[in-house]
Amino acid sequence: LTVLGLESSCDDTAAAVVRGREILSSVVADQTALHEAFGGVVPEIAARAHAEKLDHCVEGALGQSGLSLADIDIIAVTAGPGLIGGVLSGVMLAKGLSAATGKPLVGVNHLAGHALTPRLTDGLAYPFLILLVSGGHCQFLRVDGPTEFKKLGSTIDDAPGEAFDKTARLLGLPQPGGPSVEKHARSGDETRFTFPRPLLDRPGCDVSFSGLKTALLRQRDQLVADQGGLYDQDVDDLCAGFQASVRDVLVEKSRRALAESPGISGFAVAGGVAANGVLRAALETLCADQDVRFVAPPLALCTDNAAMIAFAGAEQYTERGADDLTLVARPRWPLDTTATAVIGSGR
Ligand code: ATP
Ligand code: FE
Repeated sequence: LTVLGLESSCDDTAAAVVRGREILSSVVADQTALHEAFGGVVPEIAARAHAEKLDHCVEGALGQSGLSLADIDIIAVTAGPGLIGGVLSGVMLAKGLSAATGKPLVGVNHLAGHALTPRLTDGLAYPFLILLVSGGHCQFLRVDGPTEFKKLGSTIDDAPGEAFDKTARLLGLPQPGGPSVEKHARSGDETRFTFPRPLLDRPGCDVSFSGLKTALLRQRDQLVADQGGLYDQDVDDLCAGFQASVRDVLVEKSRRALAESPGISGFAVAGGVAANGVLRAALETLCADQDVRFVAPPLALCTDNAAMIAFAGAEQYTERGADDLTLVARPRWPLDTTATAVIGSGR
């Protein structure tokens, strides 16, 4: 199957052509510059930019793949969850292309796209376990099939990427916070300050990160009160302490998620925070200890892209067939129910 995939659910406009596990092209137009002045993604600006850029991305993806629309077998599009204006732009374009060409249309859950990526990159067999850690999400999912996901745990407040970003802001470091904090942590002492390990005392795989921010704020304010400001070493030590806490919590919860998932073919990590070297190394060690295959897809496929949507679309089409033109764009769309059931519900 040769699939054209479209993605426009957040602040990246993307199109890709995928055949089997081969990515023939993947174009991502990010909108960072458009939103920079506002300190966050502005939904109206994002929606307009998606509407303007999607055509161009599709042309680019087709052009790079050396194919034309006639060579495409199915059209896959992110139908949620996400900023509704962007999702609508993608769904409308996909419907238009499908109606004009008669090619089947498949609506894909954005998180299913992330969750199925380890199959695209490494051919992991079902069932496998994935930890999605990004700026907006943190969840442990057991992936049993293209539309079958079991959520083993998730964050009850902030996502880890968000916590990294807030930490950087509190310490006056540049955004995105993850890479800044990781860099400073390299010369820091993770044992100098005490950070909590939230929810480790409770059973299960849920995580929490908002308490870390409070702890950091308190330590920072104490240092400022005691010595009138922060020395470079203080910043490095705070970064190291914070990062170690995120690492320890995610590793322990991963251990539990693995214990709850006998018979899996591997454990994958995805999302922007998966770029963190300290976290990656700790998870790799955990998997080696447990004799479980560890997969960390290349970063360009861990963050938002349309290749994952095209691939997930193909897997889902094979299992459940196509959607029709009544496909709806959904701002909210939890994954831990079967994707098919939710698509039909129209909510
Ligand atoms: P989502 O895809 O869930 O809607 P998003 O688009 O914000 O959210 P991503 O693009 O996957 O998420 O990831 C961005 C996040 O990853 C940011 O919060 C950033 O700080 C974090 N991040 C990037 N590199 C690192 C790193 N080396 N260590 C920790 N965090 C990192
Ligand atoms: Fe995403």
